[in-house]
Amino acid sequence: RSNAEKFEFQAEVSRLMDIIINSLYSSKDIFLRELISNASDALDKIRFLSLTDKEVLGDGDNTKLEIQIKLDKEKKILSIRDRGVGMTKEDLIKNLGTIAKSGTSAFVDKMQTGGDLNLIGQFGVGFYSVYLVSDYVEVISKHNDDKQYVWESNADGAYAISEDTYNEPLGRGTEIRLHLKDEASEYLEESKLKELVKKYSEFINFPIYIWASKEVDVQAPAEDNDASDDEETPESTDGEEKEDDDDDEEKDEDEEKPKTETIKETTYEWERLNDVKAIWLRSPKEVTEKEYTKFYHTLAKDFGDEKPMAWTHFNAEGDVEFKAILFVPPKAPAELYENYHTGNKSNLKLYVRRVFISDEFDELLPKHLLFLLGLVDSDTLPLNVSREMLQQHDSLKTIKKKLIRKALDMLRKLAEEDPDEGLDDKDKKEVEQSKVNDEKRGQYTKFWNEFGKSIKLGIVEDSENRNRLAKLVRFETTKSDGKLTSLDQYISRMKSGQKDIFYITGTSKEQLEKSPFLERLNKKNYEVIFYTDPVDEYLMQYLMDYKDKKFQNVSKEGLKLGKDSKEKEIKESFKELTKWWKETLGSETVDDVKISNRLAGTPCVVVTSKYGWSANMERIMQSQTL
Ligand code: ADP
Ligand code: MG
Repeated sequence: RSNAEKFEFQAEVSRLMDIIINSLYSSKDIFLRELISNASDALDKIRFLSLTDKEVLGDGDNTKLEIQIKLDKEKKILSIRDRGVGMTKEDLIKNLGTIAKSGTSAFVDKMQTGGDLNLIGQFGVGFYSVYLVSDYVEVISKHNDDKQYVWESNADGAYAISEDTYNEPLGRGTEIRLHLKDEASEYLEESKLKELVKKYSEFINFPIYIWASKEVDVQAPAEDNDASDDEETPESTDGEEKEDDDDDEEKDEDEEKPKTETIKETTYEWERLNDVKAIWLRSPKEVTEKEYTKFYHTLAKDFGDEKPMAWTHFNAEGDVEFKAILFVPPKAPAELYENYHTGNKSNLKLYVRRVFISDEFDELLPKHLLFLLGLVDSDTLPLNVSREMLQQHDSLKTIKKKLIRKALDMLRKLAEEDPDEGLDDKDKKEVEQSKVNDEKRGQYTKFWNEFGKSIKLGIVEDSENRNRLAKLVRFETTKSDGKLTSLDQYISRMKSGQKDIFYITGTSKEQLEKSPFLERLNKKNYEVIFYTDPVDEYLMQYLMDYKDKKFQNVSKEGLKLGKDSKEKEIKESFKELTKWWKETLGSETVDDVKISNRLAGTPCVVVTSKYGWSANMERIMQSQTL
């Protein structure tokens, strides 16, 4: 094209396209999901803009927020069109090629080490999946602020952009034309596309249409059939009518009326493929587990076959009304704790009365619950204000509070439904035995291993919910036999007369088991919690008590194990020794030297004062592990 301007892809993008176009990946279908998802995003954007400025929608067909799919079998073109926000020339350059997105090189690296192409959407480069099935792609786009442009590339390292003076005007939006590779001809089959759209667009909140062929019966004048019907039947695949009008004259010999017959004819019309009742508007009782799982995959842009660990779907009523669905992902992302203090983003989508507003609202969940995925649809928030103003809205605080409660309830339930939980607790075992659900077995342990740190950090940060969070904490103890146990279970096993909850901190259970601090406690049959995660030291600075029981670090001053009748006598008789010892070591080295009843075999130990750092904390501070 004479007016085309040529551009080179940024190197990373070019590499990505090479990988895709040469890929032997078998699930090429995913390109359609990515295109529909982009179309839906673009429609969300224009709908959002129209909240504050009705004019942006224009008039006539432009106001129809929908997606259309069309096939051209002869030219082998599949096109997907939306009436979304569209792209200006600058957008086309920026979004489709020149500037690599942050995810591009990460995705290229993943693909070179055998990563799964299915995850392409998570890396923000889903568009390029079109080259799984096409060798040449045109993107025609019209944005309100610019003329209509065509972007085109055959993935050879370059692309071209030209002002569009030859295609039909789009009004507004984007049409992606895929010139399909020979081996991708299955995507010219209507039935295949219908099947895929149904599969991938279940949760798209805009109508999707396909330009579908339909066989209809029409009455046409009968053919002259003096010879029996051995001629070809009329075929019409292109929708144009074929009429036989050449033999009317000779026909009226046997009958007065002209004969008619029924023939099949192909016509085309837009066929709607999805129904757009949003899943969160439906009653939780109606939605199946499979639907929740699929919805989770759509939200997470993760189309593996792992189920979310848990979810909660509810309708909050009262001053602030909203509907929400929250999911616990099957796995913690690798960066979850690396970015904990600085960079984790919300995974919640915010809607106001069905209209998508943003997925960057960090005010909806506290840091320690940012691992949850889901959405909130509020009826109370105003629609016609900017994102910035929404961010300040009072209702957000209420929403946040309720989301936290519901999230913690969901986790408590996950624990309660796990038959492996509380195995040491005899009563529970007997009661639960009858309704054991093996699907839930081990689920809470799995949750704890992936996200337990978040719960601990929550205890540090969220004083209001500290107790609810403490209920969710798991640990091993001197008596838990390698299994995880909870504070409630610990308390249920406390010896009569035991006032405090005992714990000890260190680097590993193996190391702690040998600690002289445990000698006497073990001998007297007291249970002691092992805290071996660096974050546990912080946790215990905030978790002072649980159900009226104080926590006592057994390596610190203040451990009481009941009275020893001879204590006073013994203290008296060793007075000289302790005095001499203290003076010899000097006040630089020790605060005090005391007679203790905490040891059984070992003659002496170094103990930290009540308010000082434990030895483990000293070690952590020195290595700065957190
Ligand atoms: P992502 O959707 O994660 O941003 P993609 O590679 O799928 O990544 O798309 C890249 C960008 O191209 C999008 O962010 C968007 O700005 C633009 N884009 C793609 N398709 C469309 C479309 N149909 N309408 C408007 N913009 C689009
Ligand atoms: Mg996309």
